[in-house]
Amino acid sequence: MTSALYHTFGCKLNFAETSAVASRMERLGIRRVQAGEAPDLIFVNTCSVTGEADKKCRQAIRSFNRRFPRAAIIVTGCYAQLKSEEAASLPGVVIVAGNDRKGEIGRFVADFLESRRKTVDVIPAKDIRRFSPSCSRGDRTRYFLKVQDGCDCWCTYCTIPSARGRSRSATIRQLVSQAEEVVAQGGKEIVITGVNIGDFGKRQPDLTPEAPREDFLSLIKALDNVAGIERYRISSIEPDLLTDEIIEFCASSRAFMPHFHIPLQCGSDTVLRLMRRRYDSALFRDKIIKIKELMPDAFIGVDVMAGTRGETIDEFNRSYDFIESLPVTRLHVFPYSERPGTRALEIPHIVTQEEKHRRVEQLTALSNRKMREFAGKYVGSTRPVLLEHTRPGQPMSGFTDNYLKVRLPDAPPSTDNTILPATLSELLITPTGEPEFLATL
Ligand code: SF4
Repeated sequence: MTSALYHTFGCKLNFAETSAVASRMERLGIRRVQAGEAPDLIFVNTCSVTGEADKKCRQAIRSFNRRFPRAAIIVTGCYAQLKSEEAASLPGVVIVAGNDRKGEIGRFVADFLESRRKTVDVIPAKDIRRFSPSCSRGDRTRYFLKVQDGCDCWCTYCTIPSARGRSRSATIRQLVSQAEEVVAQGGKEIVITGVNIGDFGKRQPDLTPEAPREDFLSLIKALDNVAGIERYRISSIEPDLLTDEIIEFCASSRAFMPHFHIPLQCGSDTVLRLMRRRYDSALFRDKIIKIKELMPDAFIGVDVMAGTRGETIDEFNRSYDFIESLPVTRLHVFPYSERPGTRALEIPHIVTQEEKHRRVEQLTALSNRKMREFAGKYVGSTRPVLLEHTRPGQPMSGFTDNYLKVRLPDAPPSTDNTILPATLSELLITPTGEPEFLATL
């Protein structure tokens, strides 16, 4: 039986799409490779968010070819979409599939296994019209439901619109039935994912023209009614698309968790304008305050980009002070990366690598402090935890509703995939600096 190894870079959406491809391959009789076994096929789902990401993808492909010279390599994802010829020239690569072609990979593989014919099938992102659905179980207990793809925003530092095309999405009916399938498979938690999910409903290729328009609020209301799914998490939503109605609905909903991830990128209005972001710091603060008013225990993760063009030291300090003043939980800090073809390259002011590194460190230290302050408030409290099996010999673990990581040494394996109240008795700091609770049922 043909075996395949799957390797994914980048965002939650990529991971969701990889598991969807793996499920389709299984239906074709292609199984996941066992540990220590040499695979026949290697599937690499790539990322191109930074120059470093491109490099890591090339390195991984070359390394797989050295380790498994007889394996046929399939490359897809944003690096393959943006640099298909380069990807096709790498050793061992037999198939390069664009972001819009992930659904066809099974056919390309069947064709290759029969004829050894190579395939490079990548259409320009601007011509991508259809929405490729995917809903799949991650490697733990939660499922990833892709509701939207592509983006129309063209922030000056970003290549994603060039890699994933225009904003488009599934229909509510399609997504509700996928959520019902998750229930049928015993799933309890779904992470709603996409590129710019707040833009849900803008273009729906499968919705008939006469059908009423759909939007993100109507989607989450419909999903909240799917009996059997006990938890939803919104993977990431743009601040200007996170309306007060959405926040109010999540606060009063049955199953939407007090957990938000909102890209800020910078706390300076001058830099936000240079980035062509569609909000200012005042709007961002209002959203955070609104969330905390209605859900005081909410976990709020925030994306921040350090050292983008135009971010002078004064603007950085202004940004830092703004972020420090916000009641947010954790920062995801990224160093700005020059991307070919982006409008940011027209901005004259450049931050040195050294200074960029210093700003990343300063923001990361701020994030660690905020995360510990947040976690510290919950020592001794009891919160619902979705218990997950971990590796053999390891204790059960899981996340609270407000996304605190918990370890439960006394929980029996039979509690896997159940939601139980747990007392967060002791706060530990892991070797990676992450807070984690020891808890009891
Ligand atoms: S909103 Fe901006 S940063 Fe996000 S994917 Fe779209 S263009 Fe990129």
